[in-house]
Amino acid sequence: MKVALLSGGVGGARFACGLVSAIDPEDVTVIGNVGDDLDVLGLAVSPDLDSILYALAGLHDEERGWGRAGETWEALGTVSELGGDDWFRLGDRDLGLHLVRTEALRAGEPLSAVTARLARALGVEAAVIPATDDRLRTWIDTPAGSFAFQEWFVARGHRDEVDGVRFVGDAEPAPGVLEALAGADAIVIAPSNPYVSIWPILAIGEIRAALVARRVPCVAVSPLVGGRAVKGPADRMLARMAGGTGPEHVAACYAGLIDALVVDESDPAGQLAVRRIVTQTLMTDLDASRRLAETVLGAAA
Ligand code: GDP
Ligand code: CA
Repeated sequence: MKVALLSGGVGGARFACGLVSAIDPEDVTVIGNVGDDLDVLGLAVSPDLDSILYALAGLHDEERGWGRAGETWEALGTVSELGGDDWFRLGDRDLGLHLVRTEALRAGEPLSAVTARLARALGVEAAVIPATDDRLRTWIDTPAGSFAFQEWFVARGHRDEVDGVRFVGDAEPAPGVLEALAGADAIVIAPSNPYVSIWPILAIGEIRAALVARRVPCVAVSPLVGGRAVKGPADRMLARMAGGTGPEHVAACYAGLIDALVVDESDPAGQLAVRRIVTQTLMTDLDASRRLAETVLGAAA
């Protein structure tokens, strides 16, 4: 069974790990969000792609949820001492990857090609593709003004309520994205933040059109457990922008694009426009992630 997974960082990466332990990793294509990408200290950083790569390579920091295990922060310490930009946390090990990626991008290699190369070097067997090679950036509109994604998320600690999200840039799907969607037996939307992890992918017209025209099931996994985000601002964003944190509010984010929504046992019942699949969705360890992936695949079969 070939699966195309639309994914953000932490929640998406956790789910991707379960998926590649449930089926042959070579049958999995992860299409990653790049709306959070940024330039820091002259380096091209792709936080969501990196969370996916590190997790699939078994290098991720389980507790922190992002970055590498056993990380040290010497370089950033020096940046601070020298009065440089230190608001975005880049660890020493992580920096090595950003150096390689930045050099390749400057030499004209597309992001998708660099990402494939990094994945191979890290021993990742699944395909990991950025949604686009073009510049696509998420902007957040708040009562305090509009902010580039990471300025809102990291620098301001996502404390501002969100009135809207916008995606800036004319983007085409990266090579391999439409092929993966067309060749998949199932399309899965990871338990990622709908607004800032999945919508930037769906903002690419041809990707959205491919989902609308799908001939195979598309199943989304809710990132909420008991109406609360496991991590991050998804619940607050849903409450303010969708009017609530029930399964129906998550499903509404994907109207016309999904056939089923997987929700946690602790989430409220109620009318849903798509099939509801109830299971335990908290990915406490790899076993839990795999069981969740198996349930999703069962729903798509
Ligand atoms: P980001 O790009 O790093 O913010 O990551 P994602 O958007 O992929 O993931 C963030 C979302 O993952 C949050 O809304 C969390 O609620 C959700 N999430 C994290 N862990 C779990 C989990 O174990 N189960 C479920 N259902 N959602 C999770
Ligand atoms: Ca992200």
